Amino acid sequence: MMIFPEIQTLSIVFNCLFFYVPELTKAGVNLKALEDRIRAEGKILPGPVLKVSSFLNHQMDADFIMELGAELARRYADAGVTKILTIESSGIAVAVACGAALHVPVLFAKKHLTSNVSGDLYQTIVHSYTHGTDYTVIVEREYLEANDRVLIVDDFLANGRAIEGLLDLIRQAGAEAVGAGIVIEKGFQEGGSKLREDGLSVESLAVIERMDADGIEFRGSC
Ligand code: 5GP
Repeated sequence: MMIFPEIQTLSIVFNCLFFYVPELTKAGVNLKALEDRIRAEGKILPGPVLKVSSFLNHQMDADFIMELGAELARRYADAGVTKILTIESSGIAVAVACGAALHVPVLFAKKHLTSNVSGDLYQTIVHSYTHGTDYTVIVEREYLEANDRVLIVDDFLANGRAIEGLLDLIRQAGAEAVGAGIVIEKGFQEGGSKLREDGLSVESLAVIERMDADGIEFRGSC
């Protein structure tokens, strides 16, 4: 059948508009925007470490982080979360955003025994991915209770040592871990698969499959 060129063009434009639906979740965050920002602003350092200090780890894009936290909250909305647990310092911003969306308190494991830490403590040793050293983290016992259903939130997941440390604190308290919500998982490192094999629910907003001089490739995107 002969179709007029104008109609053909209109049809192509319509199809593009109709089928180009950005990956908007119900919470309103565009996950492609996260991938785009990681690609545009991320710097790959030896380690390998991805530096995203322009919006997540040093300077923080507050609006964007609120959206990321809301999206993690949406994924655990039915999990009966009573508390968010993170580790200082770079997990705190997104944890607060998630806690605000779920209307639950946010507790962060401290790396330093400061003078305002008092009372009985839970403590565990964590190996730092970025510093390459072991350090002790603590939470005060009164803030982590046996009846808590705890969602762990962090900025990055690499080998899973930070999350394992937080799981240990939750275990010591007799509380339950309902899952881990992560902004950026480096899927080429072992943490995510190990934690999932152990039965933990892990939700990551962006999963990096590969990052090198040729660029950054995400799981599940084209
Ligand atoms: P893991 O304990 O899973 O090996 O590493 C996760 C922790 O190390 C996170 O809390 C995060 O602060 C830090 N981290 C791991 N990989 C990266 C990375 O590529 N970039 C940044 N900025 N932090 C990372």
